[in-house]
Amino acid sequence: MNTRETLSPWQLAERAHAMNPSAIREILKVTERPGILNFAGGLPSPETFPVEAMHAACAAVLGEDLNVARASLQYASSEGLPELRQWVAAQMAKQGAHISPDQVLITTGSQQGLDLIAKVLLDKGSRMLVESPTYLGALQAFTPMQPSIESVESDFGGVSAPALRKALEKGERPRFIYLLPNFQNPTGRTMDEARRNDVIAVCREFGLPIVEDNPYGELWFESQPPAPLLARWPEGVLYLGSFSKILAPGLRLGYVIAPPELYPKLLQAKQAADLHTPGFNQRVVAEVIKDGFLDRHVPTIRDRYHQQRDAMLAALQRELGDTGAEWTRPVGGMFIWVRLPEGLIAKDLLPAAVDAGMAFVPGAPFYAENADPRTLRLSFVTSTPEQIDRGMAALAKVVRGAGR
Ligand code: PMP
Repeated sequence: MNTRETLSPWQLAERAHAMNPSAIREILKVTERPGILNFAGGLPSPETFPVEAMHAACAAVLGEDLNVARASLQYASSEGLPELRQWVAAQMAKQGAHISPDQVLITTGSQQGLDLIAKVLLDKGSRMLVESPTYLGALQAFTPMQPSIESVESDFGGVSAPALRKALEKGERPRFIYLLPNFQNPTGRTMDEARRNDVIAVCREFGLPIVEDNPYGELWFESQPPAPLLARWPEGVLYLGSFSKILAPGLRLGYVIAPPELYPKLLQAKQAADLHTPGFNQRVVAEVIKDGFLDRHVPTIRDRYHQQRDAMLAALQRELGDTGAEWTRPVGGMFIWVRLPEGLIAKDLLPAAVDAGMAFVPGAPFYAENADPRTLRLSFVTSTPEQIDRGMAALAKVVRGAGR
């Protein structure tokens, strides 16, 4: 029996028991050996960070006008800096989504948006739907609320509208479905115009709200993706955006666009979480983007990632083309999703891949249920074409060795 001395004074909340260490972080530890060609991470290329523009903007914010400098260092409003909220509304209008700046909540990364949404919309046992596979960080944000997360069958074009209908015809109405229409993390896939319309039609029919997560939408290679779901059903969509992939993730700046009826609750959750998003970062970013900087900067990221994607697709075809492996051909974003030949398990292959000099992330943790163990994710944005060539050759060697 436990004595008073040996008994821990701490008792965890039920929701803490539901939290898991990120499976990916554990895996990434293995992959961070020096000298490894790392395709496992989810980081943007640091070479795209606009250091000079950030430097100049910091200097401007802390410059001659002492009032601006002081305001940037003071507590700020929970909703976010008005200039940024207006910028978000103007950007969305260009994509056909006409919203008011009053609907924009600036968050500490869009990851915080996911956490606030979970707190506001999910109870223990609430039914909710995700794509298969889906963004692991969203699963991490949702699970502490202990919802019942169901994955809806999806293909290379995203979530399947007939499968969604089937899921909605049985059981209670889910609180929402979480969707990533553009260059999805982890698969790189994109929902085309027809798929978006089909999915929206089903959601409207059943009154199923949508959480649309779009951190990669600006990173298209040849043509802009179809209009966001928000533009198609403004009352039924909560939209998440981010500055992480177009400026820098270290700023921790994202946003939620909420229908007016939900906004006050999200704002209250935001106040409880951290009062407001760092005001200094918001002012610096407002300063950086005010003269159309992103219109010049983002195309340079697109060009770079486009070349890297081309290099990876070519290397995959050359090295793995005859092995029976399959992969996605993303038209934007940062990731390619590979399905290994039958009989291979990505997780089991990773140690040999690391020994051969390259690392990927096994796909299984990205599934809420029914994981496909043959899948893995490759990021193409932090390696040069030459590193990509060597990395895919190493992967092919391991795949061939395991298949023998
Ligand atoms: N959603 C998706 C799909 C992501 O891939 C990420 C970042 N990996 C986020 C949200 C969170 O991004 P941030 O908090 O940096 O805006």
